[in-house]
Amino acid sequence: MSETLNLFRLQELDTQIDRIKTRLDEIEQLLSNDESINRAQKNLEKAQAKAKQKRIELQKIEGEVEAKRIKRKTTQSSMYSGKINNPKELQDLQMESEALKKYITELEDEQLEAMIANEEAEKAVQQAEKDLKQAEGTSVEEKADLRGEKSKLDEELKRLSREKEAVLQSVSPKALNLYQRLRKSKHGIAVAAVSEGGCSICGQALPPGDLQIIRGGNTIYFCPSCGRIMFGGS
Ligand SMILES: [Zn+2]
Repeated sequence: MSETLNLFRLQELDTQIDRIKTRLDEIEQLLSNDESINRAQKNLEKAQAKAKQKRIELQKIEGEVEAKRIKRKTTQSSMYSGKINNPKELQDLQMESEALKKYITELEDEQLEAMIANEEAEKAVQQAEKDLKQAEGTSVEEKADLRGEKSKLDEELKRLSREKEAVLQSVSPKALNLYQRLRKSKHGIAVAAVSEGGCSICGQALPPGDLQIIRGGNTIYFCPSCGRIMFGGS
């Protein structure tokens, strides 16, 4: 078997191994990433804090309305008790009662607004709870898929590594050294196949005589343009 064929097979295996390792790194990152859940959790906490605030505001205004109603009742009881005969005093009570009535009406408007705000805040909490559940559900599904993919890729990687070991048996240390140096300097691709009379990686056209030499497979021929080892076909 020619040396360039072995290097080409090695290249094919390494390319597949590189691709699998890149994907396994991605999967590792995706599995440890809980960003969408964390974001949904934070949104829920924010919505809960806001709802609590709105509830306190509503309770406060309800308390105020109640207090003013009691005060008005007391004022009216005094007015109609028959115990106060001084017209000036009665007039003052009448005015106070009117003022309280007006104030209560204003407070009731505020109370209505507070109730609406409270309802909206509660709805936002319910939505945030739903969103969190959905994010958790999606994450569980996605992670199960990723784990499935990972175990397949792990198996594939083992198989390719075994094949690579076998190919390495037939590659001389000198050729392997050359291959590894080229892999490092040429973005992982040390060996290029001939395609349409030229280098499949950089597209450089090659003279027919050179193509003959490459096809022979006994001499290591470098692409004159990109410097990769050329492989002419098995
Ligand atoms: Zn080339």
